[in-house]
Parts: sequence; structure tokens; C-alpha cells
Amino acid sequence: MLGPVLLAAARSDSIRRLVSAAPVTRPMVDRFVAGEQLDHCLQAVQSLADRGLEVTIDHLGEDITDRSEALRNRDAYLALTDALAASGLGERAEMSVKLSAFGQALPGGHDLAYENVRPVVEAAAAAGTTVTLDMEDHTTVDSTLAILGELRTRFPQTGAVVQSYLFRTEDDCHALAGEGSRVRLVKGAYKEPAEVAFQDKREVDRAYVRCLKILMAGKGYPMVGSHDPRMVAIAQDLAARYGRKHDEYEFQMLYGIREAEQTRLVADGHRMRVYIPYGTDWYGYFMRRLAERPANMAFFLRSLVSR
Ligand code: FAD
Repeated sequence: MLGPVLLAAARSDSIRRLVSAAPVTRPMVDRFVAGEQLDHCLQAVQSLADRGLEVTIDHLGEDITDRSEALRNRDAYLALTDALAASGLGERAEMSVKLSAFGQALPGGHDLAYENVRPVVEAAAAAGTTVTLDMEDHTTVDSTLAILGELRTRFPQTGAVVQSYLFRTEDDCHALAGEGSRVRLVKGAYKEPAEVAFQDKREVDRAYVRCLKILMAGKGYPMVGSHDPRMVAIAQDLAARYGRKHDEYEFQMLYGIREAEQTRLVADGHRMRVYIPYGTDWYGYFMRRLAERPANMAFFLRSLVSR
């Protein structure tokens, strides 16, 4: 019950102000976000790299309301790319971007997002790294996949994300399972209507496994984005069934979640990439993490009442 409420709250400005001002919020945010400044993020990247983990970095910012914010977000990613190149971390680090941070929801947003994200993808390629386009709510999927298609004509290593809760995603997996394609499969983190998405968690899980089969059987590079022990085990079985070596797919988990499992997978010889968000605009990301897991919400509420 609480999940949908939190997901709705993730897009409410008044609740954003309330939650952001609560003094107990900060320590909770720090569990999921690697600081507000680029330096904090780079320290976190280095310490994960020292433990054998790879990363994908998200400069937080989404659902912007004017074009100048899109330019600021583009520039933040360009600065991040420069910093990765200078620090020599580019080999272990790629970047994740949300096209809504590049103007996708503004008037003329499709072209605007493409124009703003393209320089980031170019700079990433020049720096020896790459970009994955995060997937947001279902209204953005066609535009995001079209932008992906454009970007991949010059930068085929650009990654996509697909969400198993959407009815359309099996078809998208077939379309994206070709040679050179990099696809992160997740369950999906937004509040979606019953017309377009499975509402029952078991249905979402079953769809996840069907999509995983398509990607593992295909010729691309599957990125298994899940903390679910069942999905991790099934991914390993499918990889073995389709003759994939350990460097022909990877696991991905979010910063601060199941860290022991992240380390265990690396120790077992798997590629494990941590999605690491940083920046000041953490509210929407934070609320989606609370919505996913009642235990996170309970912890947050306990800290509110125990003050
Ligand atoms: P769930 O179905 O939430 O949980 C299943 C089981 O996993 C739980 O029962 C528990 O055993 C275990 N588990 C889950 N969370 C925890 C935890 N915090 N601690 C301990 N055990 C836990 N969503 C999008 O919509 N778009 C994106 O672009 C996107 N990118 C993502 C990138 C990465 C790398 C990851 C990992 C997720 C991303 N997501 C994205 C979020 C995703 O859609 C899910 O909302 C999120 O991963 C929760 O689903 P799950 O598969 O991890 O497990």
C-alpha cells in the first residue's frame, strides 16, 4: 500500500520541501547517495574500484522545468567525464543519464534531450567510457529508445534500460538483443497504470525471467540490474545455459544496497557494477528507494519518532 503513495510523493513539490527540510532525512539519504559534490562521488568510486567493483555514475537531476537546468545537467556530466579521464577511473566507470534531466519533458523535449545528451555521449567516447540511458516512466519509453537508436549509429556502446513491469518490454528485448547492444534489465521503479504494466510483483518477476532469457540468448551484452537473489541465481543459470563467459554479461546493483552480495559476486569472478548517484537533487531517487522496500521506510519512520 505504501509503495504507490511514496511513488506519488516522489513527484510532489510540497512533500519534497517537507522531507528535504527534516533533519533526520540526511543520514538516510547518505545510505543511498554518494554525497552532493563530484569529489565525494569520486572518493566513493575509488573505494568501490579498490574492492574490484565497477560503477555507473548518475548525476542526480530529473523532471526539470526549464532549459537552463538541462544545460546545467549537461555541463555537470561533461565535468564528470573530464574528472573520470583525469583520474584514470574511466575504465571502471561509465555514466547513467536520465533524459528528463536533459529536457525530455519540456516542449520540443525529444529533440532538446537528444541535442543535450549527444555531447555527453561524444565526450564519454573520447574519454574511453560510455553512457547508459536510464528508463523513466512509460510515457518516455518511445522517445528514449528512439534517442538510443540515433546515438547508437555513431556510439554503438551506448546502453539502454528496459523494465520488466511494462507489457511491451519482451518485444523491446527482442529488438535490443542484437550484436553490440548493451541492455540493463530492471523490474521498474515508477508508478505505472494497469493499462501498460503488470501490477502483481509475481507477474513482474516472471516477466523479468522471460526478458532475461531473451537477452541471454541474444548477441548483446546483458546487464542484470536487480538485488533479488532469485534473479541473480537465474541469471547465472541462464548465462551458463547459453554458454556465456563471466565477461559476457554483468550484474548491477544500487549504491548502498546488498553490499556483501556485491562483494561476493566479485569474489566469485563475476562482473559487478554499482549504480552510484551523487548531487543535490536526491529527492525523487531517495523516495523511489523508500517505496521499493518497506524496511527502508520503517527505518526512516523510526528515526523520525525516536528523535
Ligand atoms: P525487488 O523486487 O524490489 O526485491 C526482491 C528481493 O530482492 C527482496 O525480497 C530482497 O530479497 C532483495 N532486495 C531488494 N532490495 C533489497 C535491499 N534494499 N536490501 C536487501 N535485499 C533487497 N528502475 C527504473 O525504472 N529505471 C532505471 O533506469 C533503473 N535503473 C536501475 C539501475 C540499477 C543498477 C538497479 C539495481 C536498479 C535500477 N532501477 C531502475 C530500479 C529497479 O527498477 C527496481 O525498482 C529495483 O532494483 C528493485 O527491484 P529488485 O529487482 O532489486 O528487487
